[in-house]
Amino acid sequence: MRQRHKPWADDFLNDNTHLIVPDAKSNKGKWKEMFGNANPIHVEIGSGKGQFIAGMAEQHPDVNFIGIELAKSIIVIAGSKVKNAGQDNVLLLHVDAADLTELFAENEISAIYLNFSDPWPKKRHAKRRLTFHTFLRQYEHILQSEGEIVLKTDNQGLFEYSLVSFSQFGMDLTEVNLDLHSEEDPENVMTEYEEKFSAKGQPIYRCRAQFS
Ligand code: SAM
Repeated sequence: MRQRHKPWADDFLNDNTHLIVPDAKSNKGKWKEMFGNANPIHVEIGSGKGQFIAGMAEQHPDVNFIGIELAKSIIVIAGSKVKNAGQDNVLLLHVDAADLTELFAENEISAIYLNFSDPWPKKRHAKRRLTFHTFLRQYEHILQSEGEIVLKTDNQGLFEYSLVSFSQFGMDLTEVNLDLHSEEDPENVMTEYEEKFSAKGQPIYRCRAQFS
């Protein structure tokens, strides 16, 4: 995702610590307290400019959403979106998703969304893919037993790799959709990348997987 320097980003982060939570690791195991209710918590990794998480938060007011985004100039755009919508069921973390088990306790999370994650097509970069087995091990730890991973992408290579990775890890695939937009799905909330690629006529892939 394109990043532009935003001179107001540091001020926004400092002024909105109730929304973009600093020192996120200190809240491990306490995220329900942070939201002030016992609703399930869903996490989006690489939430970009926040269109998906803001849309999901509106569609599911009884779910709490946490968006993880590494890029400062991008997370502040997501933060502005959530702030303007007045949503209180979204928190954002400006951290690297590599350390998920330091952010969340065992069984603390009910669903994980991987939307248009960087495909890292070179073989030597496979371990950076968010569906590499080291990530799956972390997802397994933080997800409740009925919890699911929902992955959307336009990238056939990443999709195929992820299906194989889920299967090799012994996960159950509960959905494999090779053209998400071929049928109307009023529940589907589009991401920025999804809008861009589907407008070009590219098929969007989606799968859902659970640890058995
Ligand atoms: N999910 C959005 C969408 O579908 O429009 C953005 C997709 S963009 C290709 C991937 C995003 O993931 C970027 O904003 C990038 O900064 C973020 N990202 C990549 N690796 C990350 C990591 N290890 N931790 C947190 N965010 C990451």
